[in-house]
Amino acid sequence: MDKIQMQTPLVEMDGDEMTRILWQIIKEELLLPYIDLNTEYYDLGLAHRNETDDQVTIDAAEATKKYKVAVKCATITPNKARMKEYSLKKMYKSPNGTIRALLDGTVFRAPIVVKGIEPCVKNWKKPITLARHAYGDIYKNTEFYIDKPGEAKLVFTGDDGEERIETIQRFDKPGVLLGMHNLDASIESFARSCFNYALDIRQDVWFGCKDTISKTYDGRFKEIFNRIYEEEFKERFQAENLTYFYSLIDDIVARVMKAEGGFIWACKNYDGDVMSDMVSSAFGSLAMMTSVLVSPHGYYEYEAAHGTVQRHYYRHLEGKETSTNSVATIFAWTGALRKRGELDEDQALVEFADKLEKATTSTIESGKMTKDLALITSLKNPKILNSRDFILAVKEKLEKLL
Ligand code: NAP
Ligand code: MG
Repeated sequence: MDKIQMQTPLVEMDGDEMTRILWQIIKEELLLPYIDLNTEYYDLGLAHRNETDDQVTIDAAEATKKYKVAVKCATITPNKARMKEYSLKKMYKSPNGTIRALLDGTVFRAPIVVKGIEPCVKNWKKPITLARHAYGDIYKNTEFYIDKPGEAKLVFTGDDGEERIETIQRFDKPGVLLGMHNLDASIESFARSCFNYALDIRQDVWFGCKDTISKTYDGRFKEIFNRIYEEEFKERFQAENLTYFYSLIDDIVARVMKAEGGFIWACKNYDGDVMSDMVSSAFGSLAMMTSVLVSPHGYYEYEAAHGTVQRHYYRHLEGKETSTNSVATIFAWTGALRKRGELDEDQALVEFADKLEKATTSTIESGKMTKDLALITSLKNPKILNSRDFILAVKEKLEKLL
């Protein structure tokens, strides 16, 4: 078989620990034998980020703007322990945060559904894709602990000298206080990303917040979503038989629990943080969750939703066998290859991505899986494979499909 040629490079961002090991095996066994892999490689491993003062992360994001599609391995976000472990010059920011800030996107997370790994919510038949707004609210807040009597006020001082002041609360006893914000531009690009992605994957959009209580703040989210939908997307949605549905967040939560799935659930920042963990664990495992950053400018960055699986990596370093699930990392590659193929109108690449996904899910459905899935599967007598052997089992299925 001739190798598939790629017209445009894909931005490849390598990463850390166990996922870096899986990355290498996936490339060697599942990609390089079949594709003349055309990537622009950036090593986001922590050692190299440190060597380049994190410039490599910025370069990788800039390359994503140029080529539009990237695939990223999980990376360490440094903390105090990592400073010591890697003798870091400084505590670099999360690469994902840096990339998100440069590409201005929304993160979509969707479970990979396979027979044998059933969601614990019985009526969830199709994946639920979670879209999380990734700017502002409590993630960019200012907080006080109030330890004496006094009055808390919300103050805005305009550059034109206008002052707006409102009392928040009179404190007679100790308590807590918080200030936060969001920006129209960020909410607008969040809404556009959700609607564009919905058209891409042909699913409805559900959005909920609490505009009955937070009439101005959450009210603004509701207004912006409605306006962008009416002005820019309604006709295309109707043509595709898709809908946009707004309700209060508590009503949305109740409906999600009763729904079949197969839609995009748009969440404010905090709701998305909490609900994506609920959705992913209810669907089975974080190792079966894909994640893609979609920017309103049409850039796509694919990755796994989990981290670098540090515990398994330390076992690996001790020379012990690991059974680390590579499914989400394989799907990061297939997502990126498929999108590259779509943008380049390269059907061979799209078909390859479909077949590799099919090979991966059918390997699990045939009873061969890593330990994390063997613990939760409804299949009888699953065969537990180590990290490499699982990928080799996928390769065997892939060879049959090609
Ligand atoms: P983690 O890497 O997601 O792993 C947490 C635990 O979940 C693992 O110890 C393992 O449980 C299980 N797990 C996760 N992925 C798995 C897989 N593919 N196969 C099998 N089991 C899996 O989270 P963490 O240990 O909290 O974080 C490690 C590093 O990852 C941190 O330095 C963090 O900064 C980074 N991180 C990066 C990203 C990203 O780049 N997107 C996201 C999150 C975290 P058992 O040990 O019980 O088997
Ligand atoms: Mg979380």
